[in-house]
Amino acid sequence: MIPAPPSRPARWASAPARWVGALRAHGGAGLDLVLPRTCPGCGAPEPWCARCAVTLGPVRAVRLPDAALDAAAGLALPPVYALAGYHGAPRAAVLHGKERGRRDLPARLGVPLGEGLAVLVRAGVLLRDPWLVPAPSRRSAARARGGDPVTAMARSAARTLARQGLAAGVAPCLSTAAGAVDSVGLGARERVRNLAGRVRYAPRAAPPAGAVVVLVDDVVTSGATVLAACRVLADHGRPVSAVLCVAAAPSLLRRP
Ligand SMILES: [Zn+2]
Repeated sequence: MIPAPPSRPARWASAPARWVGALRAHGGAGLDLVLPRTCPGCGAPEPWCARCAVTLGPVRAVRLPDAALDAAAGLALPPVYALAGYHGAPRAAVLHGKERGRRDLPARLGVPLGEGLAVLVRAGVLLRDPWLVPAPSRRSAARARGGDPVTAMARSAARTLARQGLAAGVAPCLSTAAGAVDSVGLGARERVRNLAGRVRYAPRAAPPAGAVVVLVDDVVTSGATVLAACRVLADHGRPVSAVLCVAAAPSLLRRP
C-alpha cells in the first residue's frame, strides 16, 4: 500500500527512508529526478560507484547446494557462474534494485553480466549468439516492485554484448505461477519444493528451437530457481547451456 503523503511539508522533510523506498517501488518515477541517487554499496554520491562496480567479476564457477543437486535427479544441470559473492556491495545493489525501487540498478548490473557472457563466449565455454532467458519471478511480486529487474538486467546484458560485436537475444518466457510463495525466509529444500512444477513457460516469448540458451538471474542461493527453470526449459526442448548470475552465496563460489 502506498503510504498517504504527509499533509505538511515539514513532515515530508522528515519522512523515513523506508517511505522513499516504498514510493519508488510503487512507481514514483518522478522521485528519481529529485532524490539523490547514492551508491547502494558505500553511499558515495554516485548511482553505482567505480569502487563498488569492480566487485563484480571475474566470472567464477558456482557449485549448487546439495539439496538442489539431489533434486536435479535425471536433469543434466548446465555449468553455473556468478560474478561475485552475495555480500557487501553486490548484495546491496541487487537488493536496492529489487526491493527498494532503484530501477536504474538492474540495467547497471546487466553491464558486467554482459561482459561476463562475452568472456564465456570468447573462451569457447558458450557458443555465439546466445539467447538470454531471465529467471522467473513471481508475476505479482514483479509488478509490485515496478517491473521485473532480472529482465531489465538481461536486456542490458544483451546490449553490452552487442557493443562488443556479439549478438544476443532476450527471451522472457518464464514466470512463476500462483501458489509459489515468495522465497524469502524459506530454507533450501523448502525453496526447491516451493518452485517445483510452478514455473510457467510462454512459448511465444521462448528462444527459437536450437538456440544456445543462457539462464540469467540476480542471485543464486538455494539453487531452487535455477533448477526449476532449467527443468522447464529442457522439457520444452530448450536445454540451458549455462547459467550466469550477478552473485552467489559465497559458500557456493569455487576458487577463481
Ligand atoms: Zn560504492
